[in-house]
Amino acid sequence: MALRVQKYGGTSVADIEHINRVADRVQKSQDQGDQIVVVLSAMSGVTDSLIRLAEQASKTPDKRELDVLLATGEQTTAALLAMILKSRGYKAKSFLGFQAGIQTNKISGKARIMDINGTNILHALADGHIAVVAGFQGADEDGAITTLGRGGSDTSAVAIASALKADVCEIFTDVDGVYTTDPRICSSARKIDRISYEEMLEMAILGAKVLQIRSVEFAKKYNVPVHVRSSFNEEKGTMVVNESSDMESVVVSGITCDMNEARITFKKVPDQPGISAKIFSPLAQAEIGVDMIIQNTRSGGETDLTFTVTKDDFERAREISERVGKEVGAHEILTAVEIAKVSVIGLGMKSHSGVAATMFQALASENINIRLISTSEIRISCVILAKYAELAVRTLHSAFGLDKEK
Ligand code: ADP
Ligand code: ASP
Ligand code: MG
Repeated sequence: MALRVQKYGGTSVADIEHINRVADRVQKSQDQGDQIVVVLSAMSGVTDSLIRLAEQASKTPDKRELDVLLATGEQTTAALLAMILKSRGYKAKSFLGFQAGIQTNKISGKARIMDINGTNILHALADGHIAVVAGFQGADEDGAITTLGRGGSDTSAVAIASALKADVCEIFTDVDGVYTTDPRICSSARKIDRISYEEMLEMAILGAKVLQIRSVEFAKKYNVPVHVRSSFNEEKGTMVVNESSDMESVVVSGITCDMNEARITFKKVPDQPGISAKIFSPLAQAEIGVDMIIQNTRSGGETDLTFTVTKDDFERAREISERVGKEVGAHEILTAVEIAKVSVIGLGMKSHSGVAATMFQALASENINIRLISTSEIRISCVILAKYAELAVRTLHSAFGLDKEK
């Protein structure tokens, strides 16, 4: 008997018909004798409409109350699936995040899971129930409801799988697995059978939203076997596993595109010790994560400092930058939101050279200007204008020989 955690995303629970299909699948697994914990997302589009509703209630919705509101999306689907299973004669029980023992820190809207007490779920399983857990949510130590950031149900599922020492965490979604790039952007993308935690983590960080970043961090840290697969067919999907040697022979294994960043430039700040600290400390205090940072030294003791933040944090980061800009004597603060970050990722880059040159040549061949560049051992990222994002992804996919055979 295996213990399986199965997570179904928004499009897989989009309406009652879809939830019935999820019930078919869950039922089948249970009939095979496995113990099943289901983790659900809200119906697709529901979290977005709840956010819009909150924005009608207040221009700056209170974060604590926003989490209470957003958590209802997953509460709805969990209750509906449990009802359907029960009406079919199965033992099933729904659990909200706190009932599933998911304890988080206090950061509303992007809380981190600190601990999971799996007692309630384990009791339900031992009693023959299918446990249906509302994803994306937990509670802090004072019992306040928190949410885990967009796409957070993936993290709920992997964290629960790790706490319960499940045999597998299956992520059922609307594509057949993890592809060499977003199959919706590039029709010649290929499905990857096995990918290392490390590469998957880079892909998630760099914009492949098929798995939330924290879910991959969790899986990597606790060695949770993750199977990303389609909820619409029975095909085997992608196994996310520990690094295996055959992967290193592939130089580039994937291309990603992230449209969720914005750029801020401090124009002509004094080139002196302490200036960067003055700029980045207030951003850190406001819990704004900064991604790429580039400094261009000019003549005359001045420098331009450019960095990127996520679009969610952009308005706050801009306000802080305007204020700090005056303090440090910047001539001007420039911003751009219509940007995209395209990245090539591969473990094999550790031991191969020439990847950057191929990337820059491929972008140049399409006349795409590179605004910012950053690299790590296993990836290279370029910021370009948003309007070229899809063209850049397809061009790079083909330049690195990732296109499937026609
Ligand atoms: P769910 O609602 O099931 O959580 P998401 O929309 O969050 O699904 O993630 C699945 C989507 O991720 C796919 O529909 C696809 O467009 C997108 N995606 C981006 N990059 C990739 C990739 N490399 N492989 C597979 N899907 C990707
Ligand atoms: N419903 C949440 C979202 O749309 C969480 C999830 O689907 O994973 O971001
Ligand atoms: Mg998702």
